[in-house]
Amino acid sequence: MLRALLALSLVVQPVVAADLPDLGEVSRQYFSDQEEQALGRAIMSDVYADPRYLDDPEIETYLHQLGYKLVSVSSRNQREFNFFVVDDPSINAFAMPGGNIGVHTGLLLAAQSESELASVVAHEIAHVTQDHIARMVTAQSQSHWPTMAALALALLAARSNPNVASAAIASTQAYSIQNQLNYSRDYEREADRLGYEMLTRGGFDPRGMSGFFNRLERANRFYDSSAPAYLRTHPLTTDRISDMQSRSETAPYQQVADSLDFELVRARLRAQENSPADAVLAAGDALKDKRYRSETAARYGLVTALVRARQFKAAEAEVQKLLSGKPAHPMIQQLTAQTALAAGNPTLALQRYQVGSEAHPGYRPLQYGHIAALLAADRNQDALTRVDRQLALYPLDRRLWRLAAQAHAQLGHRLLSHRAQAEATALSGNLVAAIEQISLGLKVADGSFHEMSAAEARRREWQEAEKSQRKD
Ligand SMILES: [Zn+2]
Repeated sequence: MLRALLALSLVVQPVVAADLPDLGEVSRQYFSDQEEQALGRAIMSDVYADPRYLDDPEIETYLHQLGYKLVSVSSRNQREFNFFVVDDPSINAFAMPGGNIGVHTGLLLAAQSESELASVVAHEIAHVTQDHIARMVTAQSQSHWPTMAALALALLAARSNPNVASAAIASTQAYSIQNQLNYSRDYEREADRLGYEMLTRGGFDPRGMSGFFNRLERANRFYDSSAPAYLRTHPLTTDRISDMQSRSETAPYQQVADSLDFELVRARLRAQENSPADAVLAAGDALKDKRYRSETAARYGLVTALVRARQFKAAEAEVQKLLSGKPAHPMIQQLTAQTALAAGNPTLALQRYQVGSEAHPGYRPLQYGHIAALLAADRNQDALTRVDRQLALYPLDRRLWRLAAQAHAQLGHRLLSHRAQAEATALSGNLVAAIEQISLGLKVADGSFHEMSAAEARRREWQEAEKSQRKD
């Protein structure tokens, strides 16, 4: 049976690949780059406000690094991507307009290797680089789901209209996008093929793809009443499976080790599950029975669970073991500082943040933690100096702007605090709220002449942008 499928796929595949329609140009007539970016921002503004959005800078940073490792080896990597995590136990990942790719925590935990996770992320990246979403909008006449273009208008109208009801309706529609997108067989196979390319070039095990899909399909057979959303939106056909299989068979065998980051992220997610006491028990047992692939990650999970259960003494004892090894991984450094802070020892926390941010200057979650700890210790001027230095490097980081807003507030700079909060809000995709926020600061008017005119210029810029979005 498998042989027959393989033979068939070998005959069919090259023809299909050569015949893939290139609708990129056509679709742009319906859906401009700017429209897609605007729609992407509007959707992300809803995502960030949704309780299911996992606001965890470390896990998000990991996903971003993994994603860009794949994007950087893609043959079409001119686009901007944004990776985020959704706190949802179901196995799913999805691409949305504007290069926004969401991954469920259920997928992060169900993947049995980093290559499996990478294979799903690579597949989603390919849907974006190939403009599959815009192409589906072009095919709107054959379908009855609300078109993306109409949706873009509804969302943007809701943004410019402070009517809460219409905003709520629009965001419900935005969320239903992912369930309404059923990629066609051609799109699926194209995404598989390009995803496979990224996997091999990115140094992952290309067998991760077929391994993951095989397990997903088997799970689906057992629970067919509740097919994973992933299989609904990315239909798994026998063609796809046999394509994957034949590609994997010709791939040179390579053993790819999972990164420590991958293990740490999973340990962190597992430590957040169930009650704090249960999480401590589970993590402790796993460590005791040596049921782990990385002892460091298992201990990291235990410390996370212990801090959650407010067992600070036990947590600190495990932290000592984590710190006794080689220079600590930034996530470990962050956890040791957080443990000290939670245990009520800000001096030790700041010392650990100092060590960590010197060892890993480019790791932004450590900077967020360090700045927040300085603010908690009322060292506001130090916090402001550090956050300003980071903002000079990463002016589009909404988390840094939120910290800047807090630093200015604690220093009594009201205009600058509102201005920084407004920048964070604008970066989260909500220009209307950003304009309101900066207007509050301009009303207080406690800034210098230069600060006032800069804020006024910024407000005009946002008003223009908002007006032109409304016109579209
Ligand atoms: Zn797909």
